[in-house]
Amino acid sequence: MCGVFGIFNHPEAANLAYLGLHALQHRGQESAGVVSNERGTLHAVRQMGYVADVFDQGRLAQLPGRLAVGHVRYTTAGGSLPKNIQPLTVEYRHGSVAIAHNGNLVNADQLREELEAEGSIFHTNSDTEVVLQLMARSADHDWVENLFAALVRLRGAYSLVMTAGERLVAARDPHGFRPLILGRVKGDHPHPHYGKHAWVVASETCAFDLIDAEKVRDIEPGEVLVIDGEGLRSSRLKPQPKRFCVFEHVYFARPDSVLDDVAVYEARVEMGRALAREQPAAADVVIPVPDSGVVAAMGYAKEAGLPFEMGLIRNHYVGRTFIEPKDSIRHFGVKLKLNAVAQLLRGKRVVVVDDSIVRGTTSRKIVKMIRAAGASEVHVRISSPPVTGPCHYGIDTPTRAELIASGHSVEETARFIEADSLGYLSPAGLLAAVGEDGEENFCSACFTGRYPVALQTTGRRQLRLIEV
Ligand code: AMP
Repeated sequence: MCGVFGIFNHPEAANLAYLGLHALQHRGQESAGVVSNERGTLHAVRQMGYVADVFDQGRLAQLPGRLAVGHVRYTTAGGSLPKNIQPLTVEYRHGSVAIAHNGNLVNADQLREELEAEGSIFHTNSDTEVVLQLMARSADHDWVENLFAALVRLRGAYSLVMTAGERLVAARDPHGFRPLILGRVKGDHPHPHYGKHAWVVASETCAFDLIDAEKVRDIEPGEVLVIDGEGLRSSRLKPQPKRFCVFEHVYFARPDSVLDDVAVYEARVEMGRALAREQPAAADVVIPVPDSGVVAAMGYAKEAGLPFEMGLIRNHYVGRTFIEPKDSIRHFGVKLKLNAVAQLLRGKRVVVVDDSIVRGTTSRKIVKMIRAAGASEVHVRISSPPVTGPCHYGIDTPTRAELIASGHSVEETARFIEADSLGYLSPAGLLAAVGEDGEENFCSACFTGRYPVALQTTGRRQLRLIEV
């Protein structure tokens, strides 16, 4: 997963990109970068770490220009290495190009092998570089034409923001797996070349709220939007059925965002309510696993008519558990991150709500923690169906073998996590909560095993150079 941001025609473009990345920090914490564009010359600040660690006043001052693109990274393809930090930049015959990508290309390995056979040299092991290499090989006379030639060869998930020349371009794959939204900074920002408006593109609307921008609309699946001094122009790739990632609503997006016209907060409340109807429990109190389970737990408590309490307290100064690449740290992370409020839980029958179970290790530790705090019963309720398959489109899920629900029944999982009972939301309940009215507009492959686009692996070993 990753977060992308782009801005066109603002005197403080880099500063707003920096703020936008702060709002998108939950989408990736491994590295952050902003590339500004000053009349076609690109300036870059990119580094491993949180947005707050990467930028300071001095660095932001090194990013002039009225255009900028930004990225926060959470490795799903390629290693967690400095050379993979985005936005990637290259020099080619139509100038310098910067690209920021959210999503996973399912045919990146194949394309890369073809390109290497033709003589391409790759600088990174990120799937995003394939886009740039395909652009460089296209014979058209303009970089946006080159981009089009590249996009028609890609399969899988991409929400892209790019800049080169004096343009900002936003593109979303034809299934629309990942979000990408167009906004406008409030007020006029007149410029003789770029026009009156300052346009922004971001993975989530919460980035707009911070910089005082308003949402204009979602970039459509398959849309390639070019923004320059002449205004906004859209072109379309060949249409495909829409398959927006339902896990964005379950877990990944911030609850104050609105994605494809669905408010994440409302969707999560509804997931909790539906879960209470589908999986009731005789209990005294409903508590969430913070922060991921909070909104669904409120929905559950309302529907069940039970009190909602913050029975687990999160230490906000520890990063998200999944970000740590080493297993040992993740296991340790649960204790670092959460603690139970014994006064609330002692002698109570507790319903604890979380958004998902992936490996089961988090839930197991949480159940233990709640029991140790004195709860008499612990009923785990999950506001999504069992995760039975890995994501090929950009969510960082482990291999099938590590997914507890892929090899174990609900009863077995309940035993493993040592819960008195375990209940998941049904796939139909989940789709209803995100406003799905029967047509399949969502990808829920991780729950159903129905993958809209097959993964095309070549078995290649990507990493041959390790940087430290
Ligand atoms: P696990 O111990 O593997 O079952 O972890 C489940 C927890 O991880 C839940 O609290 C989820 O909120 C969270 N989670 C689910 N998917 C992801 C993901 N792709 N990245 C980070 N955290 C996740």
